[in-house]
Amino acid sequence: MSARPCPICRKPRSEAFTPFCSARCRDRDLAQWFNEGYALPGEAADPEALVRDDADAERRE
Ligand SMILES: [Zn+2]
Repeated sequence: MSARPCPICRKPRSEAFTPFCSARCRDRDLAQWFNEGYALPGEAADPEALVRDDADAERRE
């Protein structure tokens, strides 16, 4: 068996935070997951924002 390093910083992993070396690296990995989740392509265009823009334009004219 070979000891694999922490996937975040490549330091030797810790038993308590396997597969990471520390709580910091574990949190960093979690944060990456969340960021990728929020960055889904479908989230870029907000249909409600477009509807609101149209309503404002109609009211102004
Ligand atoms: Zn690490």
